[in-house]
Amino acid sequence: MSNHPSNHPSFSQLGVAEPLCRALAARNYHRPTPIQARAIPLLLDGRDIVGVAQTGTGKTAAFALPILQLLGTPDRRNGPRALVLAPTRELAIQIADGFKAYGANTKLRLAVIFGGVSQRGQVDRLRRGVDIIVATPGRLLDLMNQGHAALGGIQHLVLDEADRMLDMGFIRDVRKIIAALPHDRQALLFSATMPAAVERLTADILHRPTRIDIVPKAVAVESIRQSVHFVDAKAKLGLLRDLMADQRLSRVIVFTRTKHRANRVADNLVKAGIAAEAIHGNKSQGARQRALESFRQGRARVLVATDIAARGIDVVGVTHVINFELPNEPESYVHRIGRTARAGASGVALSFCDASEYAFLRDIEALIRMPITVDGGERPSGVVSAKPAQRGRGRAGRQRNRPRRGGRPARRAA
Ligand code: AMP
Repeated sequence: MSNHPSNHPSFSQLGVAEPLCRALAARNYHRPTPIQARAIPLLLDGRDIVGVAQTGTGKTAAFALPILQLLGTPDRRNGPRALVLAPTRELAIQIADGFKAYGANTKLRLAVIFGGVSQRGQVDRLRRGVDIIVATPGRLLDLMNQGHAALGGIQHLVLDEADRMLDMGFIRDVRKIIAALPHDRQALLFSATMPAAVERLTADILHRPTRIDIVPKAVAVESIRQSVHFVDAKAKLGLLRDLMADQRLSRVIVFTRTKHRANRVADNLVKAGIAAEAIHGNKSQGARQRALESFRQGRARVLVATDIAARGIDVVGVTHVINFELPNEPESYVHRIGRTARAGASGVALSFCDASEYAFLRDIEALIRMPITVDGGERPSGVVSAKPAQRGRGRAGRQRNRPRRGGRPARRAA
């Protein structure tokens, strides 16, 4: 992350104060990442922003630095002044660690609140007084209802991984929490994707936000052996079981589009004697962690996942990625297959494509600028593989040019 061209501004040129710059230097952050370079000046200026960006882009510092700076010195007369909501305990801890590191030279205090543990320590911490709360929605709402967390003094609100928060069913809790905050506050929303429900939330809680899109660096798809099987939807489960007879498929992630399908595929594999776990947003935090651990340690040979649930999961040694269903967003294909071929290893990605998915396949081939080798079944006539010259003509190409990708002018703050 530190190899940004030298003509990029420094943190101090973005307006970041000296004590914060010192903490960044101590962590060897020499240059702001693109999202930091764009977001920090706007946030220091008090604007609301929507950041379409994934974890790994440096988004935590992009919001933590301006918030730390705007809070300045501790003032706890009206309770905490900044609130960050995150979907999972891991992310909340990661964000809190970021605040602690970047704010090492400030006197600001922070509480990190999440479920699955006793609330005693969290309540004590809140009672002693904090400037910043980083929380998962469920536990925070519990504490609010018990009178342990008063949020009437919040001036800065961050919703991180908003799409995942919605996917995990936190939308009502999030809205209840927001209803308890003062109207006059700065609000930031980060999300890797912008489904309609996130757009609605954005419209409801942000004031004339500026939109910042950070497209993740594409993985080196060339190093991954990719192939496609043309197969009827009904024959997919059988094909998957047949493929699993090959023991070289020793650590496999199978992607489905829906949570329901993820469960079905995992159940089907288990019935066939293949150790498999499903991971998706309907599962509890504990269940997701157990499934992931079982896969990491090799007890489960297969992890069946939806796109959002798989985000941020970093398991080394994944031998194969199988797209049981093709994603309707071609970028998701690139994210999915990037799960294999980590750390220089070469990986294999197999995709099952039924008649209803041909269009998705064409979009993917247009995006990665190469045809995918056919390993089974026949490419239907009339569906030609995309050649590099065709890029930009397919749906994927049009999508790239959609105004929302570059920020909708009407939404920008004047
Ligand atoms: P995030 O997207 O916030 O989870 O950040 C991804 C990783 O990049 C974290 O490990 C950060 O510590 C690191 N990072 C964030 N900003 C910078 C920067 N400007 N220079 C170097 N590393 C960074």
